[in-house]
Amino acid sequence: MQEQRKNIEMHGTGVSPGIAIEKAYIVERTRVRIPRYNILPPYIDDEIRRFRKAIETSKEQLEKVRERILYHPDIKEQAYILDSYIMILQDVAILDETEKRINTERINAEWAFQESLNKFREIFERIDDEYLRGRWMDIEHIKDRVLRNLMGRIEEGIADIKEDVIVIAHDLSPSDTAQMVHSKVKGFATDIGGKTSHTAIMAKALGIPAVVGLKRITEIVKSGDTIIIDGSNGNVIINPSDDVVDSYRKKQRKYFLYTKELLKYRKYNAETVDGRRLDIMANIEMMEEIPSVYNYGANGIGLYRTEYLYVGRKELPSEDEHFEIYRCILEKLNPLPVVIRTLDLGGDKFVSPVQVSDEINPALGLRAIRFCLKRRDLFRTQLRALLRASIYGKLHILFPLISSYNEVMEVKKELQIVKIELSSRGVPFDQDLKIGIMIEVPSAVMISEFLAREVDFFSIGTNDLIQYTLAIDRVNEQVSYLYDPLHPAILRMIKKVVDDGHDAGIKVGVCGEMASETMCIPVLVALGVDELSMNSISIPRCKRMIRSLNYSQLSALVQRILSQRTSNEVERILWDEMGSILERDWI
Ligand code: PEP
Ligand code: MG
Repeated sequence: MQEQRKNIEMHGTGVSPGIAIEKAYIVERTRVRIPRYNILPPYIDDEIRRFRKAIETSKEQLEKVRERILYHPDIKEQAYILDSYIMILQDVAILDETEKRINTERINAEWAFQESLNKFREIFERIDDEYLRGRWMDIEHIKDRVLRNLMGRIEEGIADIKEDVIVIAHDLSPSDTAQMVHSKVKGFATDIGGKTSHTAIMAKALGIPAVVGLKRITEIVKSGDTIIIDGSNGNVIINPSDDVVDSYRKKQRKYFLYTKELLKYRKYNAETVDGRRLDIMANIEMMEEIPSVYNYGANGIGLYRTEYLYVGRKELPSEDEHFEIYRCILEKLNPLPVVIRTLDLGGDKFVSPVQVSDEINPALGLRAIRFCLKRRDLFRTQLRALLRASIYGKLHILFPLISSYNEVMEVKKELQIVKIELSSRGVPFDQDLKIGIMIEVPSAVMISEFLAREVDFFSIGTNDLIQYTLAIDRVNEQVSYLYDPLHPAILRMIKKVVDDGHDAGIKVGVCGEMASETMCIPVLVALGVDELSMNSISIPRCKRMIRSLNYSQLSALVQRILSQRTSNEVERILWDEMGSILERDWI
């Protein structure tokens, strides 16, 4: 091997953690060159038949992949991706458009199909949302499949690979990834792709380390090269030297032991050594995250951010669309509780079909509940769907960005109007439905004793509470160094909210990023928080930490913690009192 091809380092996006060290296996998914030729009028019907047959064959192939997924317990939830592929193949607009082109332009099926899809591509490219733009790749995968079938090309089967490898490809479709189940593939790396692609989601569900977005890896790697991929940090090393391999083997072993050890905690309660139990819940933005909610041992969903339902769309989701999604989540989680937060659009929250006015200072503008109380039509649609879905599980509704008592009363009035409307139509809903508010504005903290008497629970949104209290724009990297969850002002606020909540007999949770931060967990436990809600992956680590804490010892520290002047001083107390517990997570 030439010296210059040793230890080549590349960096991409790590989308599924873990380390793999194997030989590279290049999977060619190069775009097929699409022929263009004219069809004579007597053969037009034959051409249309050929097109329909290719569509049918593609559907059958996808059905088979779908079956494969359904029988695999870890990824069966992902079968809906294949359903959506099959639905695209049944999309009347695309099929009609292609057949019309064959008919009127007298061109071959391959070209007509490509042209029809290009029309849809323009729509996708205009979408200002990473997740939805990423969905264009789904259509590209389908296009390749149909074209291969039209042109009689045989797809290289990943499932048939005979030895342990790391797959290197320009891109992989979710159905490629699905074939990695029980296969010899130990990891993959691709030129393109992003964190939210279905391929990445699938890789995570299968626990296969993966790095995407490496731009030129297919140009640099040859089949048979040795590759290391680190899916946690996105590093890839091509033809590593022996000492690099050794160090990664050690890292691999360490990571393996770390996750193995942590996963044990998913089934345990988050209970301190002296018996104080907390609920550890999951934050989700998309349905795809539900399998992880289970896999990492969440006690329910503590925050479902419904604004992602609106993102990047041209039209508003209908009441039935809302309803179906809520019903599905509630049924899947039943009997575990699901906290669904009403629309939190505006502020720094992304483009959507809802026109939130241009504002000089959007974080202080018409955001979240303020927006909903302005656009009551949208608010009532969501509330109706939520109430209708409430009979399918244990629903709790959460209202964001409450800043005054009147807002809570308005929200309750709106809920009452929708309840009366549904009752008059004989539509059933959970009569005992719990409602909560997010405490994320300092004014809400200052009046939390009044608010607590009006609702069933509080959820402290520390991301915003820190933004509004410390006056640091959450999305401005210039001031991000000021983000300081252990700032005495924040800790005193949390203490007040917890005490006021408990005095009124309601539970208080924390659902901002702070809830999963190693240094913050002991402090939140000390302050008496009842529930922590976080990204699913962090749950086992959080449970393990709580199980090592002593609530009485922490309670005795509260006054000392609250009388410090800076977060550094708070941290010093924590290191002195529980350094060994904190150190364990300093990986
Ligand atoms: C928060 O503000 O802490 C929170 C959980 O809500 P979001 O991050 O969606 O604003
Ligand atoms: Mg918030």
